[in-house]
Amino acid sequence: MLVVAREYYDVLIVGAGHAGAQTAITLRQKGFTGTIALLGEEPELPYERPALSKDYLSGGKAFERILIRPPEFWAERGLLILTGQKVSSVDPARHVVKTSGGRELGYGTLVWAAGGHPRRLTCPGHDLRGVHAVRNRADADGLLRALAPARDIVVIGGGYIGLEAAAVLSKLGKSITIVEAQDRVLARVAGEPLSRFFEAEHRAHGVTLRLNETVVCIEEAGGAVTGVRLGDDGVLPAQIVIVGIGIIPAVAPLLDAGADGGNGVLVDQQCRTSLKDIYAVGDCAAHVSRFADGAIIRLESVQNANDQATVAASAIIGEEVAYDAMPWFWSNQYDLKLQTVGLSADYDHIVLRGEPAKRSFSIVYLKQGCVIALDCVNAPRDYVHGRALVSARSRVPPLDLVDPTQSLKDLATATSDDRS
Ligand code: FAD
Repeated sequence: MLVVAREYYDVLIVGAGHAGAQTAITLRQKGFTGTIALLGEEPELPYERPALSKDYLSGGKAFERILIRPPEFWAERGLLILTGQKVSSVDPARHVVKTSGGRELGYGTLVWAAGGHPRRLTCPGHDLRGVHAVRNRADADGLLRALAPARDIVVIGGGYIGLEAAAVLSKLGKSITIVEAQDRVLARVAGEPLSRFFEAEHRAHGVTLRLNETVVCIEEAGGAVTGVRLGDDGVLPAQIVIVGIGIIPAVAPLLDAGADGGNGVLVDQQCRTSLKDIYAVGDCAAHVSRFADGAIIRLESVQNANDQATVAASAIIGEEVAYDAMPWFWSNQYDLKLQTVGLSADYDHIVLRGEPAKRSFSIVYLKQGCVIALDCVNAPRDYVHGRALVSARSRVPPLDLVDPTQSLKDLATATSDDRS
């Protein structure tokens, strides 16, 4: 029996971040006239999360400038945004969600776009005053408020968010140490030449790196952080600890309701979950990707959030578009712009194109002779033309790739001519 809640929306979107916002925007752009509500845990209107470890943290952009759309945009299009609402359970049979405040909302179609929550440390002291994550505006504001009296900052995790935060904060004259459990930064997402390049850049800006180090506990005095004890028993002084060790996808209510998944909720090519009339998009969605040789992956990027949202919105209005977008990503550190295309995880060969010492170069990742990904540092042309090589999984001789005077555009054309 279908019992409809008193409050009902034709499309209810849970999560007012990149993916949720884009789903709503695309539905209206495609002429959907039904009722749409976006329900978000945070108090803010949808905003650009990447800025939190970049221009917003540095003070380069005020919050109003990182809103995904101006405040009036939503109401003008009949898009209702309900802020400060956390969904705690989903009843797929009744087509109803319940918030932690006990509010029940009915839906025709549900789009789950809840992203993820920062993974916390589990060691003693993980919840002390002075331990910060950088996932939402409140996190960034809390960190900014704590900065002035702090002298020593320890960043735990040498992934993109930790490195970006270190780059911004090092400009403030603080003593910064990055602690990374692996033997290099960015080990999960990039090849060794890129890791070594960024390590050298950070050292050149006065940042200390402690690689191959485990954190034993956070030390305290009067409930506030004083240091980070490492596995070798040394203690790094710290008044602020920033933890950037990944996210846990926010999918518990959906999995509890019976959706397939684990590390994210599993979706098909139209971003449908295994539950009727429920889609999932963005950081919380796991999908089969041809860019990962058919493996099930979960991407954490604005590209993926926006492109999956577009696919889900299309499916909701009856257009059957399959999600097959090429993954891309960027990171800004100091005056360096990294642009990544494709997924490099499975590479068996790396070609370094250009000289890292000149601070403009690319790394081309190959698998069985085919180009699967590029990391381009201050090399926008390689990035633009490399996309074609990745898309076609072009087979290019490494000796051609290594020569930066050989345009990737020409190589892409030559390889596509070979195939025709
Ligand atoms: P989110 O943007 O996280 O939105 C999900 C929303 O759902 C959140 O507001 C959350 O509070 C809410 N929510 C969660 N659970 C519930 C619930 N139960 N009920 C209601 N609401 C809920 N990507 C790039 O491509 N390039 C970058 O340079 C880059 N830099 C980044 C820097 C930082 C500091 C961070 C944190 C991320 C960065 N990313 C970057 C990743 C990118 O921001 C994410 O991939 C993107 O935000 C994912 O969008 P989403 O909508 O899936 O999730």
